[in-house]
Amino acid sequence: MERLFMAECPVCHQSFACHYDEMRHSKVKLFCPSCRHRFVPEEAASLDERPDAARASTD
Ligand SMILES: [Zn+2]
Repeated sequence: MERLFMAECPVCHQSFACHYDEMRHSKVKLFCPSCRHRFVPEEAASLDERPDAARASTD
């Protein structure tokens, strides 16, 4: 089961699910599907790493 987290874009404030293992602890930039802004997790307006946070969008 893949672990996900929710990231909020600092530009348009759209929240979207990201793959935790691929993105959270790397230098890979997140890609906002709404405005196409790229940003590292530290720049996110908010991060939600609760196990249930992204379930609704992936179940
Ligand atoms: Zn955005």
